[in-house]
Amino acid sequence: MSRRRCAQDHRDTRGAIRLNGRFMLVSITSTTPDATDLGFLLHKHPDRVRSVDVGFGRAHVFYPEATSQRCTATLFVEIDPIALSRRQGGRQSRLLEPYVNDRPYVASSMLSVALGRLYRTALSGTCDARPELVSERLDLEVDLPVLPLRGDEDLLRRLFEPLGYQVESAPIPLDEQFGAWGDSVYCSVRLSGRHTVRSTLEHLYVLLGVLDDRKHYWIGENEIDKLLRRGGDWLPSHPESELISRRFLRYGRFAREALARLAESGEDTDSLDERSDEVEQAAERRISLGEQRHESVLEAVRALGGGKVVDLGCGEGRLLQRLVTEPSVTEVLGVDVSVGALEQAERRLGLDEMSERRRERINLLQGALTYSDDRLRGYDIATVVEVIEHVDSERLGMLAEVVFGHAAPAAVVLTTPNREYNTNFEHLSSAGFRHRDHRFEWTRDEFAAWAHGIEDRFGYSVEISGIGPGDPVCGPPTQMAVFSR
Ligand code: SAH
Repeated sequence: MSRRRCAQDHRDTRGAIRLNGRFMLVSITSTTPDATDLGFLLHKHPDRVRSVDVGFGRAHVFYPEATSQRCTATLFVEIDPIALSRRQGGRQSRLLEPYVNDRPYVASSMLSVALGRLYRTALSGTCDARPELVSERLDLEVDLPVLPLRGDEDLLRRLFEPLGYQVESAPIPLDEQFGAWGDSVYCSVRLSGRHTVRSTLEHLYVLLGVLDDRKHYWIGENEIDKLLRRGGDWLPSHPESELISRRFLRYGRFAREALARLAESGEDTDSLDERSDEVEQAAERRISLGEQRHESVLEAVRALGGGKVVDLGCGEGRLLQRLVTEPSVTEVLGVDVSVGALEQAERRLGLDEMSERRRERINLLQGALTYSDDRLRGYDIATVVEVIEHVDSERLGMLAEVVFGHAAPAAVVLTTPNREYNTNFEHLSSAGFRHRDHRFEWTRDEFAAWAHGIEDRFGYSVEISGIGPGDPVCGPPTQMAVFSR
């Protein structure tokens, strides 16, 4: 797209805003021959229009230009005001109110959500057709016809220049026919740089939300999970990481909850500085907890002699990743009820690219721990890390039956939160738990009582310990039980 074409597009977009104010878009152009490789990388064929429902409307990807010299993929989001207002009836109503004005057409956090949906595979760094392209840096241009900068073009530069983009921006007049009215808060922006498509998508995913410094409209917590995760590789070394993090944290309850949950689950959130030292320390305590937990579980597995290990409720496969490289472990099976989590585990582990020797040692299986399953039998050790609290109390007996009675490995390493420690967490769910999906969280006594019940019922003996920095009154954040027969 020539500069003139780009300017023309921007004008057209502004026309669209005036007409009905229901569009937002971002175009990514590659000028590295063969530029149509962009189609492989984005998993979107240049000849087709791809559309998905994003909850607040429909997002489409199409290619206004696709030659070997220049290929542009435009992501276009058409807001459905009815879907928006319908959502207002739900529990997100308070969050939605501020969006009824400019939300629909600016490149806002909603655009991040749409990017995340339509370019999910590209964001995860997967390109089945041409895997070698993923790490290739291309000459890319990003056009954002309507970015809400509110006069802060300097911020735009501070965010994108350190990442290696050349930044061009032009304010959009309030009304072209009435120059005296001055400029609007919006700019049309072009970013150019040599990047992998994946990192450019990550930058946009995170920074569009930061530039749009308003309360965010997120579809749900998962969206924020992803947002924070997308910064992992570059946010820590970004000179504005503090500002970026601060703005995330300003985005109300959902963002804070997501942050707390992310930190809790061991994401690398080093850079997620918070407003005060105190909160930062609290966050850091939580940040390392997930990792510490997996480290402690791994140590227990090692101490038990390793062998064939099944990770029950493996989630996205963080522990599997550690188990598969542990020398004492000969075979690993990851089991989870969630197909989405298993897909992520598959990607995290890179099963496709794994050497045959290692591939033979690892398997994933979809299954629920509340139903007896012969495929879970014959293992030396089962790990059950932060899973039981996701199961309804009344089904916990069934889970115990499945794990200890039916699968019956020689040893079980199981962890769960210590509720007494929750006074150290600032952000808890409305039920007072660390995660919204938790059905219960136990005190040390409650956990011990349950664990001793397992001893009696299934013939195991148990040793209980703590994981994470303890507190003399409340105890450790995580409790671990090692059951052996
Ligand atoms: N063990 C992982 C993930 C913990 S999150 C870790 O340490 O990171 C809890 C996981 O348990 C989720 O992935 C969820 O899908 C899974 N889960 C919850 N109930 C389950 C059930 N009944 N059967 C199997 N998996 C379950």
